Amino acid sequence: MDPSTFRYLGSTPCSCGRCRRVVTERIHLHEELASRLHGELDGKAGLLLGDPRTLEACGLAVAEQLRQAGDRVQTVDLEQELDGELHADDHAIDVAVETLSAHPEALPVAVGSGTVNDVVKAAAHQLERPYVAVATAPSMNGYTSAIAAITREGLKGTWPSTPPVAVLADPEVLAHSPRRLQISGLADLLSKPVSSADWKMGHLLWDEPYCPVPAEMAGRAVDRAVSVASRLPDEDPEASEVLFDALLLSGISMAVAGTSSPASGGEHLISHYLDMTAHCAPGGPRKPALHGEQVGVGTAISTRLYRALLARGQDEIDWGRAAAEAPSIEAVPEWLDQAEYLPGVLRQQFMHQSRKKLERLGSPSERVGRIRQRWEELRDTLEPSLRDAERYGEVLPVVDAPASAADLGVKPRELSLAYRLGRFVRDRYTILDLAGDLGLILELEDEVLPG
Ligand SMILES: [Zn+2]
Ligand SMILES: [Zn+2]
Repeated sequence: MDPSTFRYLGSTPCSCGRCRRVVTERIHLHEELASRLHGELDGKAGLLLGDPRTLEACGLAVAEQLRQAGDRVQTVDLEQELDGELHADDHAIDVAVETLSAHPEALPVAVGSGTVNDVVKAAAHQLERPYVAVATAPSMNGYTSAIAAITREGLKGTWPSTPPVAVLADPEVLAHSPRRLQISGLADLLSKPVSSADWKMGHLLWDEPYCPVPAEMAGRAVDRAVSVASRLPDEDPEASEVLFDALLLSGISMAVAGTSSPASGGEHLISHYLDMTAHCAPGGPRKPALHGEQVGVGTAISTRLYRALLARGQDEIDWGRAAAEAPSIEAVPEWLDQAEYLPGVLRQQFMHQSRKKLERLGSPSERVGRIRQRWEELRDTLEPSLRDAERYGEVLPVVDAPASAADLGVKPRELSLAYRLGRFVRDRYTILDLAGDLGLILELEDEVLPG
């Protein structure tokens, strides 16, 4: 296949002056992974970092082939270094930085999917060293993005990080990666209509920077991925490749935009909330579901919320009630009190993010005034995105993706709180804020949360 990603590599796809150059120069989607990686090493030593599963899936075999070709290559099992499970957090990055520092001449190679890539990307960025990614599953869109999703001091966030100079993958490895990872990648991708609607909304309401070029870049690839979705469960290499290409493009669109906004809105905040509260969940710590699985449920919630809100004409909204119920910063602690299990450090972080957002956007009455003024324009502009979101929403049930709180392994009350409080996780205006500013977030809860 001919990935549509190729034409963007190393280029600046937009001349608006704000969009950035694509750092990733090469994509090798090829069965002969070792010979391609040999070319990337170009005589340098290679340090292949992964976890036991990803090293088994391809890291060890590739390392062996490279050694036979005369390359100096070492593999590192990050879980062994950590003496525990690998999570994308400060501790793992410290360990990865230490490991890379012990091999100052080697090219770091992240062998894995989400977590391994985030950890190696952040560590290489910290040391200002280029790295390459060997993808083992089409499970998320972060391979080519310029951010790493890391939990720092309990707060899950995205941190600026230089993308890999090259991404490599063996189509057979992608096709045989666990089905659950592939469905998760598809679900992460399907958030695009609602996340870019949130981005556009931030522009329309609050004059935040927005550029249609990165917003549209991934669109066609996502459509193609949707068209092969039903073939993913059959370990169909072509379907996995199309999905992988769309995920790479989605990551590139974020790197070009210089923000995760083209691919991360309110649906991602719901997922972040669930990740951040997994360790303190009521009834005891739980293991979070996969990123895309949570995002898929968040996307369904966002889609229904968009429909419920945009269905209302300007004269069908009680603007007086909106001004009374839109939160001021003084009202946020009361909202957070609903989640009595939140540790102090998370409350502080949520307050900090909320303060930044609300100070930037103005008092409740100022915000509601502006929303009212621009309401009809907002409805007209976002309607096409909403139609796309509804069309995409039909895909996940076909592949049996998680759809309910129970499917994600969380209590219904936790999902309800993720919906109510997700808007306080981050200084980003999304559909969750709009529902809050219109005073409708609680009223619409039963209608938009999965039953
Ligand atoms: Zn642009
Ligand atoms: Zn995502």
